Amino acid sequence: MHARPSHWRLSLVVPVYNEAEALEPFLSATLPLLEKQAPELEILFIDDGSRDGTLAKLRELAASDPRLRYLAFSRNFGKEAALSAGIEHACGDAVVLIDVDLQDPPELIAEFIYHWREGGYDMVYGVRQTRRADSATKRQTAGWFYRIFNRVSDTPIPSNAGDFRLLDRRVVEALRRLPERNRFMKGLYAWAGFHQLGVPYHRPARQVGSSKFRYWKLWNFALDGIFSFSTLPLRVWSYLGGVIALLAFGYILVIITKVLLLGRDVPGYASLMTTVLFFGGMQLLSIGILGEYLGRLVTESKRRPLYLIAETSLPRQDGDL
Ligand code: UDP
Ligand code: MG
Repeated sequence: MHARPSHWRLSLVVPVYNEAEALEPFLSATLPLLEKQAPELEILFIDDGSRDGTLAKLRELAASDPRLRYLAFSRNFGKEAALSAGIEHACGDAVVLIDVDLQDPPELIAEFIYHWREGGYDMVYGVRQTRRADSATKRQTAGWFYRIFNRVSDTPIPSNAGDFRLLDRRVVEALRRLPERNRFMKGLYAWAGFHQLGVPYHRPARQVGSSKFRYWKLWNFALDGIFSFSTLPLRVWSYLGGVIALLAFGYILVIITKVLLLGRDVPGYASLMTTVLFFGGMQLLSIGILGEYLGRLVTESKRRPLYLIAETSLPRQDGDL
């Protein structure tokens, strides 16, 4: 087992986007709990380009308590980028990723810490038991997503596990080394491996404010996950193409034999049209899939930074802009 330091530091990484009214309730729920848990504590907020009073609130908090720190992006880069920034800048021996809206119960952190320190786990994540807070459609589509993802991907991800988790420093260092722009975090956690444990919990509804994710965003998120962790959609076309070509070849032989034996047939409009439409559809679909991969390649090859930091209460690091 990897030895845990006796004097250790806990970092909380909290992405926030237009969450001015959620900050105070979050702190009053977490601080008293965590002070008892960790000898040293840091709460690092990542302001993901909020347009309400979130940043002003964060400045105030950081000035009043040195354990409260923040990074502010120059615009909204998305939760995945915010988490990456948090992982990059947190200094703890254990780093906990948590939402600010209290949907990730802070009481569970004590359990995470226990499994990390006593059980020797490098990553402990929450598994949503019930998703009563989510609509039936969201639950259903999420279920399909996990099923499809795990069928096609080389690194399976656990169902109903979100970003709420504790990462050991070793995992943090591993994640910091990943250079890709498409940050599908659930896939990256699974890719990192190490000793992982899922802890079941009940996910309550949001306390204040509203969800920042809409279906279109979730759909794109799912596509990102599948296309950056599987090449199956790309490879499947050669097999499908092969099968169809074989069938077509067989059919050609049938037609030729028929013409030779029975003479020229009356042209069949329906069968011709069906074949043309079918192949047209297949070709468009496979070009679309090529496009998904190509688009991601373009994004990767530009090597743009994942986010830009406009302001921070942390000391500047090399490479920060
Ligand atoms: N969030 C963010 N950037 C975004 C959207 C969300 O940093 O573009 C943060 C948000 O402030 C919250 C967490 O990510 O702390 C989870 O967001 P939300 O509660 O809206 O997601 P849901 O719980 O509905 O999945
Ligand atoms: Mg939420």
